[in-house]
Amino acid sequence: MKCFVSSSLVFLLLVLSSATVSRGQGIPILVYHRFDPAKPGPTTVRTSVFESQLAWLEDHHYRVLPLHAAIDELRSASEAREPAVVITVDDGHRSVYTEMFPLIVKHQVPVTLFIYPSAISNASYALTWDQIKKMQASGLVDVQSHTYWHPNFRRERARLSPADYAALVKLQLERSRQVLESRLGIKVDELAWPYGIYDRDLEEAAQHAGYATAFAFDGGLASPGFDPYAIPRIPVSDSDTGARFAQLLAHPQPKGRIE
Ligand SMILES: [Zn+2]
Repeated sequence: MKCFVSSSLVFLLLVLSSATVSRGQGIPILVYHRFDPAKPGPTTVRTSVFESQLAWLEDHHYRVLPLHAAIDELRSASEAREPAVVITVDDGHRSVYTEMFPLIVKHQVPVTLFIYPSAISNASYALTWDQIKKMQASGLVDVQSHTYWHPNFRRERARLSPADYAALVKLQLERSRQVLESRLGIKVDELAWPYGIYDRDLEEAAQHAGYATAFAFDGGLASPGFDPYAIPRIPVSDSDTGARFAQLLAHPQPKGRIE
């Protein structure tokens, strides 16, 4: 079975890398976490800054693609078109509804939320199922998996027996999908690694659990040659405005894994 999984991964890699090599640069997949009207933080972008970033994308004729569409475009042999970008938001913080959602409606841009469902309608900082459904109804918001309760897999692997660790990984990957699919009536086949932590075993577990792709935040553009279970995303900060935002989109530097 292990052999089968490995050869499937190699096959997928070949499929991805054979497409549109000439396309060159790939697509920046941005990742946000929280929004706040006044106070920036390490993973918090002010609402006004987020809106200025959306305006910058409009002014520079970027196509803001849904995540699935961007992956399809990377896999296809289409000619290079106007530049594309994807917006993703991890964790399901309540400010996604209060701050971000009105702006994506105003600018009509699609967003993918990576959610860990154990927190929804449960933790005080998190979205409610009701808020997620309202966002879904706009047709602009897709919801995908960020595991069930956002574990640190590296820490868990050090702490647990191999059997217990394997059971935890399976639960985190499978229950998240099941809950999101049954609560929201959607298909979940994309995964964002909590803390950006992944390794070959986790990638194989994600494939076994039915995910088609998984996303890290190592920085760098998503390009046809990337491993489908470790597609890079680019963390956006409050200081990424104007020329800095342009630089981030055009030449993002791999940053190494953020813990
Ligand atoms: Zn997260």
